[in-house]
Amino acid sequence: MALLVQKYGGTSVGNIERIKSVAEKIKATKADGHDVVVVLSAMSGETNRMIALAKEITANPSPREMDVLLTTGEQTTIALLSMALHSLGLDAVSMTGDQIRLKTDSCHSKARILDVETKNIKEHLKLGRVVVVAGFQGRSETNEITTLGRGGSDTSAVAIAAALKADECQIYTDVDGVYTTDPRVEPNARRLDRITFEEMLEMASLGAKVLQIRSVEFAGKYNVPLRVLSSFKDGGGTLICYEENKMESPVISGIAFNRDEARLTLSGVPDKPTVAAQILSPIGDANIDVDMIVQNTLGNGKTDFTFTVHRDDYEQTKELLEKVCVLLHADNVQGNKEIAKVSVVGVGMWNHPGVAKTMFETLGQEGINMHQIATSEIKISVLVDSKYLELAVRALHKAFKLADDPTEEK
Ligand code: ASP
Ligand code: MG
Repeated sequence: MALLVQKYGGTSVGNIERIKSVAEKIKATKADGHDVVVVLSAMSGETNRMIALAKEITANPSPREMDVLLTTGEQTTIALLSMALHSLGLDAVSMTGDQIRLKTDSCHSKARILDVETKNIKEHLKLGRVVVVAGFQGRSETNEITTLGRGGSDTSAVAIAAALKADECQIYTDVDGVYTTDPRVEPNARRLDRITFEEMLEMASLGAKVLQIRSVEFAGKYNVPLRVLSSFKDGGGTLICYEENKMESPVISGIAFNRDEARLTLSGVPDKPTVAAQILSPIGDANIDVDMIVQNTLGNGKTDFTFTVHRDDYEQTKELLEKVCVLLHADNVQGNKEIAKVSVVGVGMWNHPGVAKTMFETLGQEGINMHQIATSEIKISVLVDSKYLELAVRALHKAFKLADDPTEEK
């Protein structure tokens, strides 16, 4: 018998029929002898619909009232699912974030979780009830209703699972797990049975969007085993956990990518201390995220400073750099907006020095030029022209044999 936290996303509770089928799934889990705490999103489209309503009244709605409004989406689904569970003969009780005492800071629309009380939930569980909790919402220290940011129900589920020390936090969604890469780019992409927290963070931040990234960080921090699975299709999904035995990890778990990069270079900057900080501080002040940074000393007292930003931030970053260029007496600013980042990710690469060689050889054979390379313990990222992105992903997927079934005898 296990204690499971099951989170169902917006499409899984998108209409009454689906809510009824989620109730059936929960009934089956209960019949297997498990205790279940359910965390729900609003019906798909509902949060957007309410945001649009508010915008019809004012372009700048009060953040406090916005949170009061948006939390009703989840309050609707928890009541409906509880009714559906009742009609299957199960004892179930819905609870808002306030009722379970999910405490947050006071930052409306992107509140951070401070604490989750488990007393109320545990009392209901002890009586054999299914507890159905509204995701995405909490209550601040000043007793205001708060929300956790878009997609925040994933994080609610993980926080509740951590507080209850649940055996597993299961995120039911419309995909059946985490894949070796985006199946829309590589139809041979394979579902992974397991992936580590570290790998998942790399895969998610690089564009393989399955889970709210914050929920993965949270789960890693509190060591909550996290499973992504489909509410529409049977299957074991993908388990995200710590890898106890690194030796047995696959060398490469997946190929992540990001289409929307732009690259800028400030050339001929004087090579002396504080210059890097001077270049990046106006960009940081403008709240622009900087990603891959490279500085190359040319040996003549000057250096080239290159970095990437999101493509939407390109024009603004270029303007800021032009000013820095004058200020530092640098040579010039160059940029390229049509850049994509491709990364091979795997905790197993630490003791396989051949990964970089295979990656670069593969791209070379396809005639794909790399503009920049960055490495960490568990990934190698390269920048390529956007037009080669799909080709690069497919070629690397093949080179690292990711489509093959790893359980098959070779
Ligand atoms: N309903 C919220 C949203 O659409 C939270 C969630 O679904 O996780 O962002
Ligand atoms: Mg979601």
